[in-house]
Amino acid sequence: MCGIIGIIGNREVAPMLMDGLKRLEYRGYDSAGIALQENGGLTIHKKQGRISVMEETLPKLKATVGIGHTRWATHGEPSDANAHPQVDSSGDIAVIHNGTLENYADLRSRMEAASIEFNSGTDTEVLPHLIARHYDGDLLAAVRAALGEVTGAYAIV
Ligand code: GLU
Repeated sequence: MCGIIGIIGNREVAPMLMDGLKRLEYRGYDSAGIALQENGGLTIHKKQGRISVMEETLPKLKATVGIGHTRWATHGEPSDANAHPQVDSSGDIAVIHNGTLENYADLRSRMEAASIEFNSGTDTEVLPHLIARHYDGDLLAAVRAALGEVTGAYAIV
């Protein structure tokens, strides 16, 4: 498990997320990423390697809501695609996750059989797809329902 941070603020959140991730750097990681919410949309920025590398190309955004992650790969090699956040097919639901999802392979094959396309080798990616499947306007209920389907030890934002 590495680093996970979420902020709902009232001023620009990206510098605070970067500061938080740097404080968590000592725990070790292979990639880092953030999602920022601005004007109702999400901007995802993630990279394999040092936080400073990711920071160099960080878009300038005035978002006040965001999440940040440092990853230590357990499922899927260290890569840009496997860095978190992971998103659902619409790109509207972004999840960062530390830990492992023990039953992800079964969930993934069931969703692939229902034509849901996966873009990473992570166990994490099942979560945004599951949340999207349960979502009908109530995000909290959808997250609860999705978490009811997974087993493992984890933290998510
Ligand atoms: N199991 C997840 C992955 O491999 C999260 C690893 C972590 O805790 O950073 O992407």
